[in-house]
Amino acid sequence: MENSYVSHLECSITGKKYEANKIHGLSEAGRPLLVRYDLEKLKNEISREEISNSRVDGLWRYSPLLPVADPKNRISLGETITPLIKLDRSVNYSNTDKGQVLIKDEGRLPTGSFKARGLCLAVSMAKQFKLNHLAIPTNGNAGAALAAYASCAGIRSTVFCPDDTPDINVREIQSLGAETYLVNGLINDCGKIVGDGKEKVGWFDVSTLKEPYRIEGKKTMGLELAEQLSWKLPDVIFYPTGGGTGLIGMWKAFLELKELGWIKGKLPKMVAVQAEGCAPIVKAWKNGDEHAPVWQNAFTKAAGIRVPVAVGDFLIIRAVQESNGFAIAVSDEDIMETRDRVASVEGCFLCPEGAATMSAYEQAMSSKLITPNDKVVLFNCATGLKYPLPEVTNMINKNKKINYTKFI
Ligand SMILES: *Cc1c(COP(=O)(O)O)cnc(C)c1O
Repeated sequence: MENSYVSHLECSITGKKYEANKIHGLSEAGRPLLVRYDLEKLKNEISREEISNSRVDGLWRYSPLLPVADPKNRISLGETITPLIKLDRSVNYSNTDKGQVLIKDEGRLPTGSFKARGLCLAVSMAKQFKLNHLAIPTNGNAGAALAAYASCAGIRSTVFCPDDTPDINVREIQSLGAETYLVNGLINDCGKIVGDGKEKVGWFDVSTLKEPYRIEGKKTMGLELAEQLSWKLPDVIFYPTGGGTGLIGMWKAFLELKELGWIKGKLPKMVAVQAEGCAPIVKAWKNGDEHAPVWQNAFTKAAGIRVPVAVGDFLIIRAVQESNGFAIAVSDEDIMETRDRVASVEGCFLCPEGAATMSAYEQAMSSKLITPNDKVVLFNCATGLKYPLPEVTNMINKNKKINYTKFI
């Protein structure tokens, strides 16, 4: 069995240390636990070039910076390095050639969303700890990723979704082998059912940030981005923020890379993007608060960011502040208009949450929060194909004479 470089886990709010080789949920303070590594040792034994020369295609190439010690517990459904796509037709670039807008297209991952990264790690660790039943609340994508990786590892999974979760997601989850339930409430109501059932059923709670390893999986977005851009990070990152695992995970990645000396200079501004109908983090950030109370009557078509309350609220806000970034809300109207425009003008099919980052980019440009010389990365976190799309109404009757003039 290979060793991992994990030294211990640490409560994100009190700093209290926890032993690495034990099953953990939240800390005693009820906050997320962060995995800490012996970076000094890692630095002496492994170089970034060794990582780049590794022939492993997906996120497991970063295994020295991940917690799964034994390679046989590293489960995989073929995670790929997701591409960076330059937007060429819907952005007005300045002549300086410095500014760029790149989409990191996470829709290429197994189950079509970046939830694959977090759940790949969480389920691999569950396998390492020999857990036999995992449960999760979800707006769709996390449930599908859990179902897929749990089935792949031969572990039982139970999933709870709000009853207005798009049908395609719910059916996907069930097809992938999870026992799937619809709940007449929002994701936090589903989360309560999972939490309350822990003692009674004995399942393990893999809710966002309530176990320590989904962050480590999402951290690979930051590691991958750094490597892909030849270890030079962009100026600004726009991230569609629900529970915030990805934003927190990327920020953690950048700090670890900096400590390793693998990246130098200024870190990117982290921008938390939310929908106007559910923007607890934006509101707290504007008020200068570290914690965000539950958002009432949360509504947005961008289901992945319909998260009224986040246990890692202060970690999101700290990353935004430390990076000199900002938090920004966009309307559903703008989100859907942007999705349709980018799809038809660029050929790039964003999910609504991904489109929210493009809307936020445009809003930040017009209010001069960023400049045309900035190199920007927008996260498209799921394939656009998993969402309800506009209906096609043009019909042709093959039995009638076709009027070709209408195609001219
Ligand atoms: C989960 C999800 C998000 C939010 O990600 P967090 O890291 O939990 O904030 C955004 N978009 C999509 C498509 C998602 O599935």
